[in-house]
Amino acid sequence: MKLAIISDIHGNLEALQAVLAFLNGEGIKDIICLGDIVGYGADPDECINLIRETTDHIIAGNHDWGAIGLTDTSFFNPVAKAAIEWTADTVTEDSKKFLVRLPLTITRDDFLFVHGTPSSPEDWDYLFRAADALQEFKSFLQKACFIGHSHTPLMFARDLKGMTFQVTYAEQRLEDDRRYIINVGSVGQPRDMDPDAAVGIYDRERKYFTLERIPYDIKAAQEKIIKAGLPAMLAERLGAGW
Ligand code: ZN
Repeated sequence: MKLAIISDIHGNLEALQAVLAFLNGEGIKDIICLGDIVGYGADPDECINLIRETTDHIIAGNHDWGAIGLTDTSFFNPVAKAAIEWTADTVTEDSKKFLVRLPLTITRDDFLFVHGTPSSPEDWDYLFRAADALQEFKSFLQKACFIGHSHTPLMFARDLKGMTFQVTYAEQRLEDDRRYIINVGSVGQPRDMDPDAAVGIYDRERKYFTLERIPYDIKAAQEKIIKAGLPAMLAERLGAGW
C-alpha cells in the first residue's frame, strides 16, 4: 500500500488536478494533505472542493488560517498579503467553515504530519538547516515527520547516536535505525527551480520514499492569476519554479 503526501496547493487547480490524475493512474487512494490549500492561486474554492472530495486527511497551513483571520497576516510579504486578502474576499462561507475545522497535525502509522514544524505547528516556522532539524527531532517520537511550508523538497535523517544530517533527496529507503523529517515540496508553487508539481509517495511494503514531479498546464494557471487581478509576480514565478 502506498501513501501520497501533498502540500501547498495554493489555489492552483491545474497543478492539483495533474497530481491527482497521476495518483489515480498509480492506483494510490490514500492521500494526506499538509495544508495551504489556498493563497496565491486563482482557484481557492475549486481546490478546497476537489481536495475535500479526495481525502479526509487534511491539516491547516498558515494561508488557510490567514484566509479566515485565524493567524496574523501583517507579517506576510506584500504580495502574499494581497493574495490572502483576495482569497479571503473570494472563498465561500462553506469553504471558510471547512478551513476553520482543519487540525494542525495528524498522526498515522508511525508518522507525524504537520505544515511547518513539529515543535510548534501554530508558529509556522521554516525548517531549512540540519542544525534546526536536530532540535525538531526532539519534539516528536514517531519514525518520521512529513512537513511542507517552505515549498522546498528537503530530507533530514537522525541516526541512533543522535547525529542529524541532510540526506540526498532521491528515492530513499527509510532505514530501521534512523528517523526522518521529510519536506515534500509544493503542488501549486514549487520554489526549488523545478516548476513541476511535487508529490511525495511512501511505499509501506518497501519502506521507500520517492518524490515525483508532475508537469501541468502552467500557462492556464498563470492566465487565471492575471485575469483575477492578483499580483503578476505570482504568475511569473510559476513558470520558473521560484
Ligand atoms: Zn505555502
